[in-house]
Amino acid sequence: MNDSPNPRVGEILERELPGLQRDVPVGPHCAYRVGGPAEYLYTASRTEALRHAVVMGRELDLPVTVLGQATNVLVSDRGIRGLVVLARNGDTSLDGELLTAGAGAVLPNVVLDLAQRGLAGLEFAGNIPGSVGGAVVGNAGAYGRAVGDALVRARVLADRDEYLAGPADLALGYRTSGLKGNPRGVVLEATFALCAGQRNTLLDEIARDAELRRGKHPLEYASCGSYFKNPSRELPAAKLIDELGLKGFRFGKAEVSRDHANFIVAHPGAGADDIRRVAGEVRRRVFEHFGVRLEEEVVLLGFD
Ligand SMILES: Cc1cc2nc3c(=O)[nH]c(=O)nc-3n(C[C@H](O)[C@H](O)[C@H](O)COP(=O)(O)OP(=O)(O)OC[C@H]3O[C@@H](n4cnc5c(N)ncnc54)[C@H](O)[C@@H]3O)c2cc1C
Repeated sequence: MNDSPNPRVGEILERELPGLQRDVPVGPHCAYRVGGPAEYLYTASRTEALRHAVVMGRELDLPVTVLGQATNVLVSDRGIRGLVVLARNGDTSLDGELLTAGAGAVLPNVVLDLAQRGLAGLEFAGNIPGSVGGAVVGNAGAYGRAVGDALVRARVLADRDEYLAGPADLALGYRTSGLKGNPRGVVLEATFALCAGQRNTLLDEIARDAELRRGKHPLEYASCGSYFKNPSRELPAAKLIDELGLKGFRFGKAEVSRDHANFIVAHPGAGADDIRRVAGEVRRRVFEHFGVRLEEEVVLLGFD
């Protein structure tokens, strides 16, 4: 998989990015547990390391992919060319009711910590897996709320320069932002505005949501949550898929969940191609029957 034209690229990267790995599978880092090798894989545990890795990769003309907790990506069986950087810069700091978190901070941990301090504003996201950076990029949300509602600014690295982007600059939308699918904009950290809340009420809300999710999501299987975006709030993708009797539809080791029709679950031994084939067939049938084009919420990486 090592197909970079400059043979010194690996040497330079190894020198600049201690701990760099070559040709290692990305699957074990992903919620889907599938995905072929990254040409280069680097774990950035501090914000400066994340910044440096991205800048180095770009200087060496490598495609650079930043991942958070990889809970919303499907990586191809052929893997990802170039440099994959796992954001693990999890530092957080509070300034009154303003929280600043590194892109690699784990969102549910951050939200739980805030609830324990009696700080409200992100509790709806207490059970959304993933990182702060991934949540900003995908404007993660639940129950009609999204992280963008509480976002004050994100520190973004574009090419070599950083800028501070407010919600309006980020073109936030339903499960998207101007940064989604744009490898040149990397979130380094994000700041959110919170407000005073009742510690126990917040903790109860998070616990109730966890219970609700355990009841309706197939959490015992590998998945990326909802595979498709909902065409509208009134028209959930799960309803369309369910009405076509597609729960349990499978290809290879991938299957439309029997519990939640918008989850495509991967059984042990599944390949990314199995998942895509199931998704492709679901999309085809929904379009044929309802004339609705389903759009992926999951980000596809390493596919042609
Ligand atoms: C069981 C389950 C339940 C879920 N429930 C919900 C839900 O209720 N609501 C919801 O919105 N989502 C949900 N999701 C999807 C997922 O949790 C969110 O999309 C999450 O915000 C993704 O964060 P991540 O760190 O895992 O991003 P990743 O999957 O790592 O990355 C997603 C995309 O963002 C990019 N990216 C990641 N970090 C950065 C960064 N720092 N800078 C630039 N680009 C970056 C990646 O390159 C990729 O394109 C669920 C997933 C699972 C598995």
